Amino acid sequence: MGPSLIGMSRAALGDALRAVGVPDRQVNMRTGQLWHWLYLRGATDFDQMTSVSKDLRQALAAAYAISRPEIVTEQVSEDGTRKWLLRFPSRGAGRPVEIETVYIPEEGRGTLCLSSQVGCTLSCSFCHTGTQKLVRNLTAEEIVGQILLARDRLGDYVERAPPPGDDVPSTGRLVSNIVMMGMGEPLYNFDNVKDALLIAADGDGIALSRRRITLSTSGVVPMIPRAGEEIGVMLAISLHAVRDELRDELVPLNKKYPIAELLAAVRAYPGLSNARRATFEYVMLKGVNDTAADARELVRLLAGIPAKINLIPFNPWPGNAYECSDWTQIERFAEIVNAAGYASPIRTPRGRDILAACGQLKSESERMKLRERMALEAMIAN
Ligand code: SAH
Ligand code: SF4
Repeated sequence: MGPSLIGMSRAALGDALRAVGVPDRQVNMRTGQLWHWLYLRGATDFDQMTSVSKDLRQALAAAYAISRPEIVTEQVSEDGTRKWLLRFPSRGAGRPVEIETVYIPEEGRGTLCLSSQVGCTLSCSFCHTGTQKLVRNLTAEEIVGQILLARDRLGDYVERAPPPGDDVPSTGRLVSNIVMMGMGEPLYNFDNVKDALLIAADGDGIALSRRRITLSTSGVVPMIPRAGEEIGVMLAISLHAVRDELRDELVPLNKKYPIAELLAAVRAYPGLSNARRATFEYVMLKGVNDTAADARELVRLLAGIPAKINLIPFNPWPGNAYECSDWTQIERFAEIVNAAGYASPIRTPRGRDILAACGQLKSESERMKLRERMALEAMIAN
């Protein structure tokens, strides 16, 4: 099978069309048609592209693919959260790779949480993904593929699509928001993440407003300006601590880019306003970062930044020593930051029963290793 058209920019699609003999003067029009079928209608087969001539459909099918990621498992939580374990080819040496994608339905919106890498180079001490070393970056095709697959499975396409050029209905969509908060550090895979998010935001296709797309980073400071200028999506920062000494421990990348530098990059992020706030994620770890003094220091640090704070109850995983803060402690913390105007919803854990909550994503093969190790340790202990 030939290369996939999914994830290509319009320019690259144009080249792909030329390569199968489409004359220059038709390239723009044909690119628009393909874009419509791929991203608005969710075509999975060239034969579905009825506005494209049969000859061209055949030529395209002979040269290119538009297939979806392979689904290894699909799990549905008791709270409606869905998680897919997806398999991608190795793309080079080694074995095929696996990543997870999570869909979280909420009142009035549906958020898709995408992975950007297989594993992660950063080893934040409270994060399950961080225990899996980086295997490779995902390609733009694989990142966009997660969106298309979720929409396939949820039946989230415009069935009776308006003719090309018409406005895409923006209401009633099951996938209404995207967050780059799955496995991996998106700013360490900048080019592919950029290509994928620009496709997600393209008004003729998936057409999600940039305000409904959020990129979360553990703090890769030098790439933050580029994310603002070249992608222009909403920014989330995994802060988790208000002192460098503690943050060095929780998010080791802090040793390279300490809190002051990180906050300076956020202050300079283009387009921030009270209507477009940066998000600060803060995982609540019992006895580690959850005191009232921490909350007050957080308020002081963020002064002047249009921001909201997301308090994430720590999601435990086997083999990790942290505990989630007590509920009263989380509420006390929330009261302090709320009083300062940082509307801070406590993010209710979703999909914990299927290990789909923040920081719990992994390749299944890694989880099996973990289970085997735990079983072995239990045997030795007995
Ligand atoms: N690598 C990026 C994107 C992942 S986002 C980043 O770190 O920002 C996933 C979010 O969940 C991050 O804020 C991460 O710090 C947080 N997280 C990781 N492990 C967690 C856990 N066990 N419980 C709760 N949140 C966790
Ligand atoms: Fe990587 Fe983010 Fe997990 Fe840190 S929290 S290890 S950066 S995925």
